[in-house]
Amino acid sequence: MQLKTILNRVQKHRSFVYGAARLVQGARLAIGVEVRARANSRAKCSGCGYPAPGYDTLPARRFEFVPLWGIAVFWVYAMRRVSCASCGVRVESVPWATGKHPLTDTYAWFLARWARRLSWKEVAEVFHTSWEKVFRAVEMAVEWGRAHQDLSGIEAIGIDEIQVLDQYGSGHYYGRGFLDSFSCPGEHPCGEEARGLDGGAGGDGCPGCDGRFGCHGGS
Ligand SMILES: [Zn+2]
Repeated sequence: MQLKTILNRVQKHRSFVYGAARLVQGARLAIGVEVRARANSRAKCSGCGYPAPGYDTLPARRFEFVPLWGIAVFWVYAMRRVSCASCGVRVESVPWATGKHPLTDTYAWFLARWARRLSWKEVAEVFHTSWEKVFRAVEMAVEWGRAHQDLSGIEAIGIDEIQVLDQYGSGHYYGRGFLDSFSCPGEHPCGEEARGLDGGAGGDGCPGCDGRFGCHGGS
């Protein structure tokens, strides 16, 4: 079975077609998949979302997709620009990525889901990507969540992970589990300081807050 067949099954976009898939040997082995606009399809303006006449085509760029067999997969596509009557010359919008994001939305959601289970640094290591890309993926998921959120019932907001640059601005140190320091805010507070999101092992939590804030009922 060809990779193209799998992609058409899991990620088909009506106005685009997959071309050849090639192994690319760089620092790490990767698979590059060509993506082309379907003949006669009109590009959509990224400003207003409506189809518009073509203007020109930009150099091909890469969009990272979910790795296969531990091998990085990226799509190679030359974005078109349109001459939109309302917005002027704009790059087209594509259905698989948001804005100038180098990750496909599918891969960004994939990373963001893993980032709920592992530290962002671990996610970056396991999937051979960068901390910044995991960060962007989580940011995208958070922005999506904000646009679709229900704020009722939220009692505290903390910081789950931080990135610190060393004095030379190069090396990275990571910390996880940081949460704004506060005491258990339950109805019958146990007084124990919250330990952060990692500490929130369900089931044996503080009866005051059901363990939602990582404390375990003191004693
Ligand atoms: Zn437009």
